[in-house]
Amino acid sequence: MVRTSDDTREEGSSRRGETQVDESLTTVVELLSHETRARILVTLAAHHAASPREPELSFSELRRAVGHDDPGNFNYHLGRLRGTLVEQTPNGYELSYVGGRFVGALLSGRFDPDADVPAVDGQTVCPLCGDPGRVTYEQGTLQVDCDAGHGARLNIGANVLAGRSVEGALNLAWLRSVVELRQAVEGLCPVCDGRMDGGIERPVDDEFPVYLFTCRRCGATFQTPPGGLVIDHPRVAALCHDHGIDPRRSAWTVLTDHVGEPRVVADDPPRVELVVTVEDDRLRLRLDENGRTLDRA
Ligand SMILES: [Zn+2]
Ligand SMILES: [Zn+2]
Repeated sequence: MVRTSDDTREEGSSRRGETQVDESLTTVVELLSHETRARILVTLAAHHAASPREPELSFSELRRAVGHDDPGNFNYHLGRLRGTLVEQTPNGYELSYVGGRFVGALLSGRFDPDADVPAVDGQTVCPLCGDPGRVTYEQGTLQVDCDAGHGARLNIGANVLAGRSVEGALNLAWLRSVVELRQAVEGLCPVCDGRMDGGIERPVDDEFPVYLFTCRRCGATFQTPPGGLVIDHPRVAALCHDHGIDPRRSAWTVLTDHVGEPRVVADDPPRVELVVTVEDDRLRLRLDENGRTLDRA
């Protein structure tokens, strides 16, 4: 996910505020707000991580692992989670898919203000203008800022930074963004599975064109320079492959080093042209207003 200005962030949060709060959502939040129930979820996640082929725990195993000594009371709390965040199978209890997603978000460390976040201070290239960009990590996002005021925001857990170069972390974070952007173009919100729509934002003055997608249900907003929508194109993959580059492992490097500046080549309907260059080989791609690549450039 790339967010390119503070305005966009405010726009995103106000849209989120307007979203009607679903009653079932408040029920889930209430479910998580009791220590025993939270411990059940975290315990099941830890057991699943340690034993992925046998993720279930029996009632008494689970109760002991949670450290709860009142079976009746424990049964009440487990019953509250059953059918939504916890599933009961013939072999015992395990996290449901959605339960796993909830716990995963909690364990990502993004909600922990005391999380031990390694200091990041690196250099890369601004994906919008190509000028030098400074890399930092704040509030759960890897950030790239250039002197022109462009800001890329890549949402990734701080643990991804451990043991990786700045470029390596950017490649991994951007790989996720490419996958999320593909889902957004296809109309699927990667956060809530709601309906996503959007497309090109008309460049203002000499600004670069960007694509913006917003979820109609949860308000999640994804913004990217046009180059973010071609990294996973089969022709780009083939070009990179011919030169020994795997764009899945170097998505950020391909974006910043090989995708040229986007040009708006038609207004009605809007068309954006991009040239991907690797050594002496060049590939011309054209995007439509929805972020889809046209067959003939
Ligand atoms: Zn820039
Ligand atoms: Zn959504």
